[in-house]
Amino acid sequence: MSFNSLGLSKALLKAVEKQGYTSPSPIQQKAIPLILERKDVLASAQTGTGKTAGFTLPMLQILSQGQSLRKRPIRALVLTPTRELAAQVHANVKSYSEFLDIRSTVIFGGVNQRPQVATIRNGVDVLVATPGRLLDLQNQGLLSLSNIEILVLDEADRMLDMGFLRDIKKIISSLPRKRQTLLFSATFSKEIKKLANDFLHHPVLVEATPENTTVDAIEQKVYRVAKDKKTGLIIKLISEGDWKQVLVFARTKHGANRLCEKMISAGISAAAIHGNKSQGARTKALAGFKKNSIRVLVATDIAARGLDIPLLPHVINFELPNISEDYVHRIGRTGRAGASGEALSLVSADETTYLRDIQKLVGMKIPVEIVEGFEPDPNASTEPIKQGKGGGRNHNNNSRRSNSPRNNSDKSNSSRRPKRNRNRRSN
Ligand code: AMP
Repeated sequence: MSFNSLGLSKALLKAVEKQGYTSPSPIQQKAIPLILERKDVLASAQTGTGKTAGFTLPMLQILSQGQSLRKRPIRALVLTPTRELAAQVHANVKSYSEFLDIRSTVIFGGVNQRPQVATIRNGVDVLVATPGRLLDLQNQGLLSLSNIEILVLDEADRMLDMGFLRDIKKIISSLPRKRQTLLFSATFSKEIKKLANDFLHHPVLVEATPENTTVDAIEQKVYRVAKDKKTGLIIKLISEGDWKQVLVFARTKHGANRLCEKMISAGISAAAIHGNKSQGARTKALAGFKKNSIRVLVATDIAARGLDIPLLPHVINFELPNISEDYVHRIGRTGRAGASGEALSLVSADETTYLRDIQKLVGMKIPVEIVEGFEPDPNASTEPIKQGKGGGRNHNNNSRRSNSPRNNSDKSNSSRRPKRNRNRRSN
């Protein structure tokens, strides 16, 4: 199938061609025609499926066909859970609208609001935003959403996990009732279905990948290893494999920092990305990683969410996540858009329960390897790791819903919200 048959305008096809895309991904094939028909869409799609182009291309076409008003009011709003994802979606909007008369901008917390407000005042058609900063500016009377024609909720499941439900509801209540709403989510939990029920109008369901299954192209492997030998093993794997671009997941920000320092001491260029790093440091680390001046990016789950790193060859779980779905999100960063990838997990005795839950979720037994000199400790306890200070979330899939913590992406408003589950917030 080619992009030509999807009903997109010449200007958009030219932009797509410039990106080097030859054929639309499954989610694009399904979602683009429906969105162009002005249907509300409820789409199940993870990062890496091409979902951003899936909603951005038709959104831009609809906007460019509409009335051009002199004082450009905001006509399309894309809400995302994190700063990084907001910046990425906006970068996509910019590239796809290169040959159209469409203006766009992005707003998120943690940075000065003044330039953001000035850009909005000058008039933008598309606004990409994280919920906290958007509400902040709205409360200050600095932007109006009364002309919104299209609302996109991107990675809606993550927004709910991060405690943004109240904010989202508030924002939606300020939008015109007559609008098109598109909801993208990696999973369809009860909460997501309720959100869709409340705010979408006869939505069409689109599924690109079956829920909670891992991409076939990803080769998964587990290294059973003693806890105190993990650092040595990861350095050996990266050095001997001569891997140039490795995304490593650590459970805590302190753990991420420590591992990063050890890598650097071993002569491997590395940077950490987590909630304690400033926006500037995070952007710089990601940029260095993308252009290969940094070989290893050590990230926590929240910081890594939505990062757009095309064709990432290696993902390593230095520690397994205690929430099984996060494993699927993590390894979804390799083997993207048809490329093959490798996802390795270093598993110590105390992570045995997590591994069992993950295998249940992905529906397969992940092959195990043991490296000489880095054997697991036969005397170590298989009791799960204590989730203490800075240790992440409870080992209980329901905890992400009941605790409903909020994200660290918009610090400006933190006093407004209940302070729950600080561990999650700070990762
Ligand atoms: P996303 O799922 O939107 O984060 O996109 C994942 C990656 O796939 C991004 O790097 C996109 O630039 C890329 N991509 C999106 N659509 C296509 C396509 N039709 N063909 C090849 N790559 C694509």
